[in-house]
Amino acid sequence: MNCIFCEIKDYILENELAFAILDKFPVNKGHMLFIPKRHVKDFFDITKEERQAIFELIDEAKNLLDEKYSPDGYNIGVNCGQVSGQTVMHVHVHLIPRYIGDTKCPKGGVRGVIPDKMKY
Ligand code: AMP
Ligand code: ZN
Repeated sequence: MNCIFCEIKDYILENELAFAILDKFPVNKGHMLFIPKRHVKDFFDITKEERQAIFELIDEAKNLLDEKYSPDGYNIGVNCGQVSGQTVMHVHVHLIPRYIGDTKCPKGGVRGVIPDKMKY
């Protein structure tokens, strides 16, 4: 199978069912991805145990990122399916540290997936 995430061996964090890496094309300093070790395309198809493993790593990563970069906030997000913007068809959760001033008007955050609807 041709999957870039299945080929990754260099993890920042890992547990039995999942691992974490830095995003190769980060939106912000410290942008990380949390990935189940099993190849699964869609977030809704992972097991409860895999979800828990991923969220445990997110907690660990948050502590590391707080210590290393002291971000002012975070966005957590998953693109589920091509229409939502998913480009790598192996589930991954994005953890994006946010810094004051990294965008002119952050209001609405993840609502920005539909840029015209970000503000309400
Ligand atoms: P998505 O659009 O949600 O499928 O996100 C895919 C993410 O994977 C993007 O943020 C890319 O920057 C990131 N990415 C693509 N290739 C690699 C790679 N080889 N190693 C780490 N991250 C990658
Ligand atoms: Zn894969």
